[in-house]
Amino acid sequence: MENKCCSSSECDCENIPEHKMCKLTQPANKFDVEKVKKLTSNPKFICTCCGRTANNRKNLCNPVDLN
Ligand SMILES: [Zn+2]
Repeated sequence: MENKCCSSSECDCENIPEHKMCKLTQPANKFDVEKVKKLTSNPKFICTCCGRTANNRKNLCNPVDLN
């Protein structure tokens, strides 16, 4: 099953750990919104791969500072 969040070779989308935002927001419409809300309540980082934001960089697969 195609599970890549991007085509970047630097992003290992096949093996994204459970705590990463890209994984936490899957599958669409079925993920735990409350859990994700807590992790992105005060975002400091954005993922250059999937564009998601998070308070901690450890929750993103390809994080960069938002500011
Ligand atoms: Zn990502």
